[in-house]
Amino acid sequence: MKVTKVETGIVALPNDEPLAGFSENPNATNPIVWLRLGTDQGIEGFGVTYFGGALTRTLRHAVDELGALAIGEDPMRVEAIAAKLRAAAVSAGPAGIFTMALSAIDVALWDIKGKAAGLPLWKLLGGGRDQIATYASGALRRGLKLDEALVAARRLREKGHRQTKMQLGLPGITLPAREVEQARLIREAVGPDMDLMCDINQRWRPEQAIDIGKRVEEAGVGLYWLEDVTAHDDYAGLARVSAALATPVAGGEYLYGIAPFRHMLEARSVDIVMIDQVRSGGITPWLKIAGMAEAFNLPVVSHGVPEIHVHLVGAVPNGLTVEYMPRLFHLWDEVPIPQSGLLAMPTCPGLGLNFSQDAIRRFAVA
Ligand SMILES: [Mg+2]
Repeated sequence: MKVTKVETGIVALPNDEPLAGFSENPNATNPIVWLRLGTDQGIEGFGVTYFGGALTRTLRHAVDELGALAIGEDPMRVEAIAAKLRAAAVSAGPAGIFTMALSAIDVALWDIKGKAAGLPLWKLLGGGRDQIATYASGALRRGLKLDEALVAARRLREKGHRQTKMQLGLPGITLPAREVEQARLIREAVGPDMDLMCDINQRWRPEQAIDIGKRVEEAGVGLYWLEDVTAHDDYAGLARVSAALATPVAGGEYLYGIAPFRHMLEARSVDIVMIDQVRSGGITPWLKIAGMAEAFNLPVVSHGVPEIHVHLVGAVPNGLTVEYMPRLFHLWDEVPIPQSGLLAMPTCPGLGLNFSQDAIRRFAVA
């Protein structure tokens, strides 16, 4: 089989929040680069990439240029194609736009591989389980008004979610008492049985994380994990926080490629390893990072795109839960829907996803 065609585009998807109904910024849009790789056997692979911000057109251009280098190559040889693209990009990697563009191509190649084998991706990758836990994410953001956040939290419980994530590191000056109160109120609203994660998005200093983290523990909030408590590459600072708190510390979504995870793991910075399929560079490196975490006796969780990550977290033995953040859902005809807090493994070959032609037209950006 040979790659014969590369097609890309950009869509600006609405920033709505379908899980509980309160968007932090309803007028914003999320720019997404989509990729369709064609082959001489008629099998097509789909990929996406994002986080380009104001450079989204540059990111698309990078996908186009790297994709052109994949034409004529055998899509089963994912590592050979990655090696060719890496060599061609010279010093444009190993992080940033190169890696984000590579991710889209890697995902599309795995989609083709799954379709060629007639297997859903998770099964091709080892097929660890039939279903996987998933948590509602993006519905309890720090920018919501408190009363909105509490209504949203109650809605998540009523809708049958078993796990959800809130955010601290509230806007403005950090006041520990205010942070703890927010956590306490959200816990009250979601009820005692909900696994409650909390994302700081790197907004605290290590000493603030230890202080506030301990106060949240003393208030009996019972967090399932505390995420990205400080700068993502402050491995020693993260390790200090992880050692000081009983609450598990999660991190990794901001790291690019594989090697930074080695540093994070060797420093014992986190208790739960979060892997993002865009910043990691696609499915191939995602699995390598999951394997490293397994060797360190640590679970892995995903960041964003549950419609793709369900295959990965569900395939590996140390997969813990899938972040259910419906940011790209407008782009697809159909997406996996959780039942009682669980996602069933998809049954269609490859990713089991198809671009919505209507969305590609309606949200297209020139
Ligand atoms: Mg996060």
